[in-house]
Amino acid sequence: MSVVQNIGGAGAAGGTEFVSCWSCKGPVASRALFCHTCGAIQGPGQTDHFTRLGLERSYDIDDDRLEKQYLGYQRVLHPDRFAAKSAKERALAEAQSVALNEAYETLEDPLKRATYLLRLKGVISEAAADKTVNDPALLMEAMEKREALAEAESADAIEKLTVAAAGDAIQLLSDISKAFAADDLDAANRATLRLKYLRKFLEEARLRRSALED
Ligand SMILES: [Zn+2]
Repeated sequence: MSVVQNIGGAGAAGGTEFVSCWSCKGPVASRALFCHTCGAIQGPGQTDHFTRLGLERSYDIDDDRLEKQYLGYQRVLHPDRFAAKSAKERALAEAQSVALNEAYETLEDPLKRATYLLRLKGVISEAAADKTVNDPALLMEAMEKREALAEAESADAIEKLTVAAAGDAIQLLSDISKAFAADDLDAANRATLRLKYLRKFLEEARLRRSALED
C-alpha cells in the first residue's frame, strides 16, 4: 500500500529528524507512523502540522492533496487495524489520529493556516493571541462596519453589507497568499488579522439577520 511506504519518507520541510523506535530501538524518522524496521506504530512526536501531513510548509496548499493525505493516514490508523495489537499500540494509534485531526483542522482553514504559519515563522499573530490590536485603521474599519450593521433595518441592507464583506474576505485570501509568497510577514499578519475581523463581522451579520427574521 503506497501510503504506508510514503509515511516513513523524508519530511517535506527538509532535514529528517530521527528518534528511537520504542519497540526495536532502531532509528525511525520522527514523522513516521510506523518503524520501517519492526513495523511498530510510533507516537505522534513533535512534528509541525505540514510535515505531519506530508505537505510542504507553505500557505498555498492543494486542498485535494491535503484531504487525500489526511484520509490516507487516518485509514492506516483505523482502530480496526489495531484491534489485535497491544494496549500501547492502540493508544499510540489513537494519539497519532488525534494529532492528525489537529493538523488537518488547522491547515484546512485559511485563517488558522495563516495564523499557524506565522507562528512557525516566529510571528505570534494578534489573530491567534488575545493581544491588544495595534492597528488603528483596522479598528476603525471594524467599528464602522459594526455601526452600519446596527443601523441596517432590513434583510436587504444586511445582505448588502454581507456581500461586501464576503468579497473583501475573498480578496484577503489572495493578499495573504501573496504576502507569504513574498515572505512579507508584516503584510501577511495584517491581512490575517483583518480576515479574522471580517469573519467575526460576517457571523454578527448572520445572527442579526436571523434575529430580524424571527
Ligand atoms: Zn522498530
